[in-house]
Amino acid sequence: MTTQPSSFILSLPKAELHLHLEGTVDPATLSELSRRHCTPLAADNNRYTNVEDSGRVLSEDDVRALYSYTDFVGFLMAFKAVTERLRTPEDYELITYRMMQKLAAQGVVHAEVFVSVGVLFWRGHPIDPLFEGMEAGRLRGERDFGMTLYWIFDAVRNFGAEEALKVAKKAVEYRERNVIGFGIGGDERRGAPEEFRDAYRYAREHGLRTSCHAGETTGPESISGALDALHTERLGHALSLQQSPELLQRVVREQVPLELCIASNQRTGCCPRIEDHPVRKYFDAGAMITLNTDDPEMFQTSLAHEYQLAQDVHGFSEGELRQLAMNSIRASWLPDERKSELLKRY
Ligand SMILES: [Zn+2]
Repeated sequence: MTTQPSSFILSLPKAELHLHLEGTVDPATLSELSRRHCTPLAADNNRYTNVEDSGRVLSEDDVRALYSYTDFVGFLMAFKAVTERLRTPEDYELITYRMMQKLAAQGVVHAEVFVSVGVLFWRGHPIDPLFEGMEAGRLRGERDFGMTLYWIFDAVRNFGAEEALKVAKKAVEYRERNVIGFGIGGDERRGAPEEFRDAYRYAREHGLRTSCHAGETTGPESISGALDALHTERLGHALSLQQSPELLQRVVREQVPLELCIASNQRTGCCPRIEDHPVRKYFDAGAMITLNTDDPEMFQTSLAHEYQLAQDVHGFSEGELRQLAMNSIRASWLPDERKSELLKRY
């Protein structure tokens, strides 16, 4: 991170709507986890696990090296190294609590956080006890930091439609326990939105809210597919929306909330230069945009830093930043009364 976020930015009551729990693990925490788990994962149910690596103790410098990739594949490798070291309910409690501590310090009052339940299924990890750990961390974090948090269960496109439906079912099972939504991430090139109709329909019909990573690494057809076939309520990234004026007009007309992640798009190489990011273009067109971090520790960013980037690189005024922060509250899935309470703080 280059500049320190201004006190104005820190003081805005903000919501973070596109954030992966596994991407909030900082170097000190990952190093600690690697000491807790210095045995390799069993190879049989982890076909893609590098057994050598999964049992290695990492220093904080090792983790920093791991996090300094320059492309999407490097990012996926780092993500894998983290998930290999998340094994017990206590691990999940620890990372949830530390995530909330960092969010609250930036003026975040509410977060909607993706958990890669698709990865847990794939690794054969038992989800129920791990979810108890997350919930223990959340309850402690809400009490200590005065913020709120909802979970979104995230499926991985690469694992296919059936696996995604399993994740949607798990999310529905926990609907009364603070799981608000369902989404899909992973490699867009290996799973068109149309393949995931059943999972989204199931989630919707059972009262879950929906978000979809779309147009991050592929063209606008991925975004229109997410809207038409999946009826997603929010769109993650939507970087390639800039390639289709008609689709942009539609997203503006329908006020579909966009979960933009500027630093993430630059670090994965999807948008090589921050100044080329379409955030300003979308805002000027009247789109309902929100700023988010995606995987803050892996992208060396924070929510406050994203606001600072919008101001420094894209010329957003303080009034416009205030509007973005208010958008984040409005586009959240909090109850209406809570939203108006938070918006009154402006
Ligand atoms: Zn994401």
